[in-house]
Amino acid sequence: MSLEEYAAKRRFEKTPEPPPGSANSKRNANYFCVQRHDATRLHYDFRLEIDGVLKSWAVPKGPTLDPGVRHFAAHVEDHPIDYGGFEGNIPEDNYGAGSVMLWDSGTFELLGDVTGAEQLARGDVKFRLHGEKLHGDFAIVHMKGRGKGNEWLLIKKRDEFAVPGWDVEAHAYSVLSGRTQEEIAHNAPARKTKRKTAGAVDRVWESSRPARRAAKTTSAPTTAPAAAPKKKLKSRRAH
Ligand code: MN
Repeated sequence: MSLEEYAAKRRFEKTPEPPPGSANSKRNANYFCVQRHDATRLHYDFRLEIDGVLKSWAVPKGPTLDPGVRHFAAHVEDHPIDYGGFEGNIPEDNYGAGSVMLWDSGTFELLGDVTGAEQLARGDVKFRLHGEKLHGDFAIVHMKGRGKGNEWLLIKKRDEFAVPGWDVEAHAYSVLSGRTQEEIAHNAPARKTKRKTAGAVDRVWESSRPARRAAKTTSAPTTAPAAAPKKKLKSRRAH
């Protein structure tokens, strides 16, 4: 597999990221995931399992359910399948230093009769996502003859899951632990309460905050205090 570049960029004794070829790698599961990565610049890493690796793109503005916008996606090195379950902190002085949130995960179906490898080679991959936040048909398309050659566009197709004006930052919590980026960065424990995900089909996180004043009358002392301030996410910062 083409994980040499992935391995060459990392020192696995210094980062909690999984080395290539770890045990228990699931194969042919049509897994996809999106990681929200607060590195030098905040971005989202979009990954599709094709031929035993996670084909990967860094998407500065993140994926969207809005079919009216096309988000730039930089094709980056393949990642091992095990990376798809990773959430945590890459220590300073390591490649990609910063916090990594498992922002969405699930499975996908390739659309059409052509294999994933062939769709990649032609620079036009069409697929249907079954995630917790992302659903429906998408394409990721190579912009040929541009710049460095790694420039692609991630596009939501018009279907029943399309949501004009959809805001990725309104969904900035982990599907693995329920944590915010800040909580991950501070190694806070996973949330015990679940969050609500608009459009989620099979697994639903519920808010840790009472959604309605009426909720105060319930006997749930384990929820976060009502006075807990809504955590503001750090704006896109460069450092
Ligand atoms: Mn990244």
